[in-house]
Amino acid sequence: MIVSVEKAVEIITNGDLVAIPTETVYGLAADAFNVDAVKKTFQQKDRPSDNPLIVHISGSGQLEMLTDSVSDAAKTITESFWPGPLTIVVHKRANVPDVVTGGLNSVAVRMPDNPETLALINRTGPLTAPSANRSGSPSATRATHIEHDFGVDFPILTGQAPSLGIESTVLDIREEPFTILRPGSVTAEMIESRTGFKVQSSEKKSDSDKHSPGMRYTHYKPTANVSLIDEVPSVLKSNSTYIFHSANELKSGEGIYNYMGDFDKLAHNLYDHFRQADYLGHSQIFIEKLPNDENSSILFALKDRISRASSS
Ligand code: AMP
Ligand code: MG
Repeated sequence: MIVSVEKAVEIITNGDLVAIPTETVYGLAADAFNVDAVKKTFQQKDRPSDNPLIVHISGSGQLEMLTDSVSDAAKTITESFWPGPLTIVVHKRANVPDVVTGGLNSVAVRMPDNPETLALINRTGPLTAPSANRSGSPSATRATHIEHDFGVDFPILTGQAPSLGIESTVLDIREEPFTILRPGSVTAEMIESRTGFKVQSSEKKSDSDKHSPGMRYTHYKPTANVSLIDEVPSVLKSNSTYIFHSANELKSGEGIYNYMGDFDKLAHNLYDHFRQADYLGHSQIFIEKLPNDENSSILFALKDRISRASSS
């Protein structure tokens, strides 16, 4: 059920949950400083309590509510990328509830790029918002995904549906060189070239706790089995979803998608295709292997999510 900013403010102030549109995926918002409201988020999603939440803010000033000292690096990075799909991990202030951070002494923060969501946060203050889906399902990128997971009466703030379709990059800026804990459409190269700070990806660190704590959960996977294929097959299997990007001859049928090199569009639709495969009862999703292109940031994020979805 689509609700106004006014109604969403009322819901949040009452300590309840509302789904919010962002440019990445839909979020499931609660007042970050209301412990009971944040707990409802974990219950609603069936999310493990040690998987911390990202706090969403509407202005850099609210960063001071979450961390004691805002570093110069934090200022430079957020000025370059906010509002946008980059989450920063900083030391948390003592007053940020433990339930938000899964007991960690750090907190993840981002400013989403959506006018209605920013208007809401302006009125309510910082909101926790994990993706608005049941834990274990692909992130919600359409209002219908939220209705499917939480029912048609679940409140969804009005506003444009996510344009990117893939979750934010998570960057730990507590220690130099900064570390990407979860890849997204903002890449290490983009951060380095715009801000001059050195950035490494967590894959380059052997220490497994350099990854985002939530990355070990299988929340980028559909129920159908995802596998990569090298080329477009001449005969397609039934009961299967196919996602192609280079088919010369367009294939057609239910659950068959051709992207002709449009990777932004593929990212936008990926989780919807995963969900449709599950709704259609398809047991297999075949995805044509993506090409290597160092210059495409969305391709980088897309490959990460596809490899997670196809890993056992
Ligand atoms: P979701 O909102 O469900 O897409 O997931 C949020 C992501 O942010 C998960 O991968 C979390 O592990 C990560 N995250 C949230 N808080 C922190 C934190 N304090 N330190 C590191 N990663 C975090
Ligand atoms: Mg999620």
